[in-house]
Amino acid sequence: MKKKTALITGISGQDGAYLAKFLLKKNYRVVGSDRRSSRSNNWRLEELDIGSKVIIEDLDVIEISNIARIFQKYSIDEVYNLAAQSFVKSSFENPIQTSIVNAISPLNFLEIIRNQKRKIKFYQASTSEMFGGKNERKQNELTNFYPRSPYATSKTFAHYTVRNYREAYNIFAVSGILFNHESPLRGEEFITRKITLGLANIISGKKKKIKVGNLYAKRDWGYAGDYVEAMWKMLQNKSPKDYVIGTGKNYSVKNFIDVATKILNLKTKWRGKGINEKLINLENNKTIIEIDKKFFRPTEVDTLKGDFSKAAKELNWKPKTNFMELVEMMIKADIGRKL
Ligand code: NDP
Ligand code: GDP
Repeated sequence: MKKKTALITGISGQDGAYLAKFLLKKNYRVVGSDRRSSRSNNWRLEELDIGSKVIIEDLDVIEISNIARIFQKYSIDEVYNLAAQSFVKSSFENPIQTSIVNAISPLNFLEIIRNQKRKIKFYQASTSEMFGGKNERKQNELTNFYPRSPYATSKTFAHYTVRNYREAYNIFAVSGILFNHESPLRGEEFITRKITLGLANIISGKKKKIKVGNLYAKRDWGYAGDYVEAMWKMLQNKSPKDYVIGTGKNYSVKNFIDVATKILNLKTKWRGKGINEKLINLENNKTIIEIDKKFFRPTEVDTLKGDFSKAAKELNWKPKTNFMELVEMMIKADIGRKL
């Protein structure tokens, strides 16, 4: 059978790297788009040992002509649109750039796809941030959106655009509403990796303390390696539908820190309240974690928890890695990198 060709935008990111590895195993030809920069940023592909197995094309997703060129060059079967300004905190500082990349680039793709003779399937990386969680109830495909950051509003625009193009032009276009997913390849600015890398650096003596924001925000944290399989399954589905992908459990930032320090056998104690809350290393009485207001957001998403039962039933997908296993995998990787 002829090899399928997949285009992954944002292949240099966390999910792009895991998805590329997954699709190569499924015998796809993988074309990855990367925007030109003065530094090579393909460390994730190298870490997964697939740097030489994927075709990298220079493509800024905000340039529709770049996208048209890729479609002329390759007979693409599936597009996984993962490229984004993906960091919520930055979206408050760069709302316009975030919106152009996150909202307009999916529209660029859909406009090109609807004018192709060839049937091309399209996956859009939607996010649980669109729910803007205010209460403890689990979120599913029918939950109302309440986006609480420029990141979330831009992704909500893209989400509805995908649905509209699916209905208006009969395109196989779907959105995966993925809850937070992490891994040793997660960007260092996200809280999970900030904690695991920070603790590894404290242990090796390179760093004294980690400064964080809201300890009480809760997230449904899964493993990115499990979630990329769900993306692929959505494009192999009989009909194009959107799905929530999560673990159904959530933990606070403070819980994440406690599990991480336990795995490292650190004897610690929380002291103080509010902005003065700190984590003390009882072995030397030094503060290793403290609060810094600069990491708070103008509007916070307090709690997110995904109800993935539709994906379990219709795609036969469920997460394989639990919270403890995820934290342990990330801590061990960062400790290993420091040795
Ligand atoms: P990353 O931030 O790790 O990767 C984002 C990728 O997008 C990078 O390769 C980046 O390239 C690329 N990119 C950004 N701007 C452009 C541009 N203008 N043109 C081309 N490429 C660009 O994100 P993740 O891998 O974690 O996430 C993948 C997708 O899933 C994103 O859309 C994200 O918003 C979404 N998502 C992620 C969740 C998560 O928990 N990880 C949860 C829900 C949704 P460069 O390296 O050059 O910056
Ligand atoms: P997000 O869910 O996509 O915003 O992923 P993040 O990992 O950036 O943030 C998850 C949660 O951790 C949010 O509620 C943040 O407010 C909270 N948080 C607390 N301290 C920090 C911090 O120092 N950095 C980041 N990135 N998030 C923090």
